Amino acid sequence: MVMSQGPLGPFSSLSGRKPCLLVVDDQPMNIQIMHRVFAPDCQILMATSGEQALRISAEQQPDLVLLDIEMPGMNGIETCRQLKGSEITLDIPVIFVTASTSPEQETEGLEVGAVDFIAKPINPPVLRARVRTHLLLKQQSDLLRSMAYLDGLTGIYNRRYFDEQLEREWARARRARTELALLIVDVDDFKAYNDQYGHQAGDRCLKEIGAVLRSSVKRSTDIVARYGGEEFICLLPDTSFEQAHTLANRLEQAVRERAIPHQASRAAQVVTVSIGLAVTADHDASAAELVALADQQLYLAKSMGRARVCGALLGDMTPAPGGTSAPPPNRA
Ligand code: GH3
Ligand code: MG
Ligand code: MG
Ligand code: MG
Repeated sequence: MVMSQGPLGPFSSLSGRKPCLLVVDDQPMNIQIMHRVFAPDCQILMATSGEQALRISAEQQPDLVLLDIEMPGMNGIETCRQLKGSEITLDIPVIFVTASTSPEQETEGLEVGAVDFIAKPINPPVLRARVRTHLLLKQQSDLLRSMAYLDGLTGIYNRRYFDEQLEREWARARRARTELALLIVDVDDFKAYNDQYGHQAGDRCLKEIGAVLRSSVKRSTDIVARYGGEEFICLLPDTSFEQAHTLANRLEQAVRERAIPHQASRAAQVVTVSIGLAVTADHDASAAELVALADQQLYLAKSMGRARVCGALLGDMTPAPGGTSAPPPNRA
C-alpha cells in the first residue's frame, strides 16, 4: 500500500483543485502501479496508446503526462513530438517513464520536448518527488501565463490577450464563414472626470465600468478586455450585426444606469460611454480593418454627442441596418 504522502509531503495546488495526470502505457500493470502512487492526490486519466494519449490530452488538458516510450503503434517519442507540435497541448509537460534508456534515447526524448526521464521499474518515492516538482512548475507557469493576460487595474483581460484572441477568432470566422463582431467602448469626457474627482476616483470608475461590461456580456465565447487608458473592447464571435447592436445598447445603458456622478460631462450628469461597433461577414478583409472600422464608428458616436452606439458592417458601403442608434429623447 502506497502512502498518500510521499517523503516530500502532500501535493500542493495553487488552483485549489487536484492536479490531473495522464498516465500512458501499453501495459495495464504499469498503469495500475502509477495509479496507486498518485490516486490519493491526483485525478488520473489513463491511455494505453499514443493515439489515445493525444486525443485525451487535447480534450482533457491534463497538467502532466507520464509517457511510456515502447508502445506498439505510435511510440512515446512520436507521441511527445505531436503533443509539442499542437498549440492545444504544447504547454503540458511530459515525463518519459521507460525501462531501457540509452543516452541517445534520452537525448532524443529531451529534444522532442520532455521535461524529465524516470526509470522503470518504478520507485514510488522517486516518481512522486519528480512528478511533484514538475506539477509545481506547471502550476506556476499557468499562473504567470494567466497574469500576463490580465489588466492590473480592472482585473479583466488586457490588450495582449485581446490581440491574440482577435487573430485566433478572425481565422476561425474565416474558416467557418461566420460573423465576428467587435465593440470599442470609450468613456465619455473622462479627462474631465479625473480633473473633477481626482485620478483615484477615475481608477475606481474604470474598475467599475470593467466589471459592468464583463457582467453584461453573457456568452462564454465573448471576450471583454481593457484596450488601453479609458477604452475597452469586446470581441463577439458568431454574432450578427443586430445581435451585436442590441448588446452594445445594453452595455451603454448598463454603464449609464450605474449612475456614477459626472458633473463635468457634456453627455449626461453621470458617467457614460460611447461605443463603436463593427461586424464582418466579409472574410477577405483583415482583423485590423475590423478594429479600424469600429474605431471610426466610435469617432462618429463621439461627434454625434456621445453616450450612444454607432455601427457599420465591414465591406458594406450602404448604411448598416439600424446602423446608428438615435439618442434617447430625454438625454442631457
Ligand atoms: P472623449 O469623450 O472624447 O473620449 O473625451 P475623454 O476626455 O474621455 O478623452 P481623452 O482621450 O481626451 O482623455 C482620456 C483620459 O483618460 C485622459 C487620461 O488621463 C484618462 N485615463 C487614461 N487611463 C487612465 C487610468 O488608468 N486611470 C485614470 N484615472 N485615468 C485614465
Ligand atoms: Mg511499453
Ligand atoms: Mg479614449
Ligand atoms: Mg474618452
